[in-house]
Amino acid sequence: MKVYSFPRGGISFDDPTVPSRDSSVVAFLPAFSVIPLTQYPGGSADALVSVGDLVREGMLIGKGQNPDAANIHATVPGKVVRSVEWKDNEGRPHEALVIRMEGAFKCLGKKEENFFRGSMNHKELQQLLTDYGIVEMEGSGRPVAGMLAEPGGTGTAQTLVVRCVFDDPWLAADYVVCRERIQAVVEGSYIIARSGAKIERIIFAVSYKEKELGQALLAESAQQHDIPASVIFTGSKYPQRNRRELELALRNYEKKEGVDLGSLLVLGPATLAAVHDAVKYHRPILDRYVAVGGSAVRKPQVMRVRIGKRLGDLFEECGGFVDIPYRVATGSPLCGKPVVNLDEPVTKTSYAVFAMLKAQTGDDLKRDCISCGECRSVCPVGLDPEELYKRIMVLHSARSPGAEECHGCGCCELVCPSHLPLSDIIMGKIAEVPRG
Ligand code: SF4
Ligand code: SF4
Repeated sequence: MKVYSFPRGGISFDDPTVPSRDSSVVAFLPAFSVIPLTQYPGGSADALVSVGDLVREGMLIGKGQNPDAANIHATVPGKVVRSVEWKDNEGRPHEALVIRMEGAFKCLGKKEENFFRGSMNHKELQQLLTDYGIVEMEGSGRPVAGMLAEPGGTGTAQTLVVRCVFDDPWLAADYVVCRERIQAVVEGSYIIARSGAKIERIIFAVSYKEKELGQALLAESAQQHDIPASVIFTGSKYPQRNRRELELALRNYEKKEGVDLGSLLVLGPATLAAVHDAVKYHRPILDRYVAVGGSAVRKPQVMRVRIGKRLGDLFEECGGFVDIPYRVATGSPLCGKPVVNLDEPVTKTSYAVFAMLKAQTGDDLKRDCISCGECRSVCPVGLDPEELYKRIMVLHSARSPGAEECHGCGCCELVCPSHLPLSDIIMGKIAEVPRG
């Protein structure tokens, strides 16, 4: 098997507090759902309903103000009981509608009608993705129709890259999506390929340790004939999944195999399954797979959760906490966003939620740099994090030349024996080292 990787640095790690990837469980329907009106920093949605209104499951309740703002849908039927606002850890305000569940479900448990027609053109397909509020279900949650409509999507030949790279154990939910919804992932890939005017091939980029998954994706794509698809096995060291490192691996493949991939459109399995549901069943994103774990959680599991369910309710359903958590965040511990309030909801981008005990975070006492060089050896960009960090600290929060190349993967920080917040300092997110 040929394996294509990024050329330098990176780390391998495991985490025993991650839930099992064997299967998922369906979470209880939430009695109250909190539906944010901003789902991408590019813009908010204008609320189409007010407190006191009744809403149906899947009903449009927020209209994106611009192409960068996704439409918002009710994920349960019920009554809008209030609107709330909270600030995240960076002080950004979030506004949301709270829906109390009541009434009949329109989609749940119903046989779905197939609306997809092979004769649909890319503009009609893109319109469906806009109408049903389909966004990238990770990262910043960018609307997918906007990605297809930008110049790279319509001008030059493109390759759709289906990112099935598992370099971080906290991607368990994505892995389960690939396994349990493989048909939707593959069909969603072909729908995207038809939605972009110039997508000429599909590549399933799969970690080499998941050979069987790669074969299953290829077997499923054999049902489709119009666009060529292939599997490329990638390395599995973190941050192989990052846009930059994935592109480096694919450009390496391109060079070695003498093919021209053109520009790359990269999407993950959860997004592609949502694309499938929107185009085939006219279904907005009502739920998503979430890995719930960490040492503070009694029963870690991968759950299929309605968007808007409160994180506190989700932890409760996993048996609650064994003790008071020291750190609660969404995403991976390497790059997660701190949760300020357990009333915050599961959003379209919440692929993982964790709660850690102090013991799991280890001895995080910040010490002085001992010039061990560990950070240099793992940086995939080839930076010298020690030097960047020291220059920034000496210059008192001014960003250092070279720092702009840092993409914040956190590898340097993970290996630093002095527990220095290298990534945050180099990226300019914080100006000082917090001392405990
Ligand atoms: S890993 Fe930490 S202690 Fe070692 S050289 Fe880098 S900054 Fe200094
Ligand atoms: S966070 Fe930045 S400096 Fe640190 S390893 Fe990643 S790219 Fe390199």
